[in-house]
Amino acid sequence: MSDPLLEIDDLHVYYGKAHALKGVSVSVERGEIYGVIGPNGAGKTTMLNAVAGFVDYEGTIRYDGSDLADERAQDIVQDGLIYCTEDRDLFPFFSVHENLLMGAQFRDDREAVEADLEMVYDLFPRLDERREQEAETMSGGEQQMLAIGRALMSDPEMLMLDEPTIGLAPVIIQDISEAIERLLDEGLTILLAEQNSTFALRHAERLSLIETGEIELEGTASEFHDNEYVREAYVGVH
Ligand code: ATP
Repeated sequence: MSDPLLEIDDLHVYYGKAHALKGVSVSVERGEIYGVIGPNGAGKTTMLNAVAGFVDYEGTIRYDGSDLADERAQDIVQDGLIYCTEDRDLFPFFSVHENLLMGAQFRDDREAVEADLEMVYDLFPRLDERREQEAETMSGGEQQMLAIGRALMSDPEMLMLDEPTIGLAPVIIQDISEAIERLLDEGLTILLAEQNSTFALRHAERLSLIETGEIELEGTASEFHDNEYVREAYVGVH
């Protein structure tokens, strides 16, 4: 039975005269990984920015049944919908540990925060080894792990990940893959925007392909795998 946690309906975003999203609709079910793929500039980040309350939009975005139109970005975080941006937005001069604690700044359940810290260190042993290291001195892959770890410290119900594999070595992508699968097993819902179609197809059960602000195709991972256009244009590139 359908049980959407996030429902995006007929979303339009304009940057001045540029029509960046032209009526995008996506519904993410509780407990699934939903993939959004598409080339550079297609509108993936714009879609996530709209959901997070970072840009003005037309259309409807509902999270857990509530319309997000009147919510501020911080309210959306407190609803349990956490956004890991492509820029990662770490506190560069804070240590790994301090960055993780910043993720928990709105929580007052101290014991659960401690348990979540250990959960994150268990999920990403590279962070555990570097608890006192400043974020800015970490590799790109380690910073990505820290960004996901910090998001987890907010005790999310749903994560939006924008290009988590961009610029990363295959061995690090593998670590992130394993972490994502563990989080899925634990019941997290994930909206994953990726140019790396291979990565998105490996994890997502259902996907949309966005090109120039419009959804060109939506379907299951196996439908995407079998689609000749997707295979030729998007798979095998990475
Ligand atoms: P990428 O993978 O490169 O991040 P994307 O699919 O996430 O691409 P967006 O970043 O959402 O694409 O960009 C969609 C379109 O909107 C592009 O044409 C981009 O130039 C434009 N755009 C994005 N942000 C802004 C902005 N702040 N002001 C003006 N135009 C913008």
